[in-house]
Amino acid sequence: MSPLTAPIREIFSSIQGEGIFVGCRQIFLRFAGCNLTCSYCDTPRDIPEQCYWEKRPGTRKFFTSPNPMTAQDVALILRELEPSAHHSISLTGGEPLLHALFLRELIPLIKGTRQGIYLETNGTLPAFLKPLLPFIDIIAMDIKLPGTAKVKPLWDEHREFLELARTKNTFVKIIVDENSKMEEIEKALDLICDVGDFPVVFQPVTTPDAEIKLSAEKIITWQSLAMKRLTDVRVVPQTHKFLGYL
Ligand code: SF4
Repeated sequence: MSPLTAPIREIFSSIQGEGIFVGCRQIFLRFAGCNLTCSYCDTPRDIPEQCYWEKRPGTRKFFTSPNPMTAQDVALILRELEPSAHHSISLTGGEPLLHALFLRELIPLIKGTRQGIYLETNGTLPAFLKPLLPFIDIIAMDIKLPGTAKVKPLWDEHREFLELARTKNTFVKIIVDENSKMEEIEKALDLICDVGDFPVVFQPVTTPDAEIKLSAEKIITWQSLAMKRLTDVRVVPQTHKFLGYL
């Protein structure tokens, strides 16, 4: 039987720029490919011929390996980056759950970080999450507002996903911009509150040159609304764009 493979865009050590673990050192394992086409997506959609990987943390000197890659090859690169010196390994994309079988093989090979495995996901593939749950420690889950992301409504998928994710250290990210609709934000909050008191992060869309086009009045209003119903509600932009890091 031929080994499982997956297309990997890049592997590197950097600082988490989003969500409640902002500032933590992570190894980022970025998969290629996604099941959605969000209007604000900043990740290329192609499947790259090469994976770019960093050998020593922070050097930004990248080597290349041909895609797709095996779990054993990826694990070797991750080990070189010293997992024990990192908060966690961030499985990101794209949508990493599209490669759930590959992850099932890879994750047991890459233990050793301080806080384990961090899954960054669009929260729409619950069937793919379920068998992986024992191998995941932290879940950063998006709830997509259809009017902001310009995607079809995904409320049912998000609800099923969040029900599964409640057994983990999970927080929810809602990406917002000037045109986000109050009724969609309320619907997202209804969904979250039905399942549990998860930490929620409002993430204003942040341009590549670190610009945020969202009025303070709107974001404060939405945060206040959420704080009436949830314990931990934060506003965190994509801070890595301010730092100029990957
Ligand atoms: S889910 Fe994430 S990677 Fe996929 S299209 Fe949306 S923003 Fe891009």
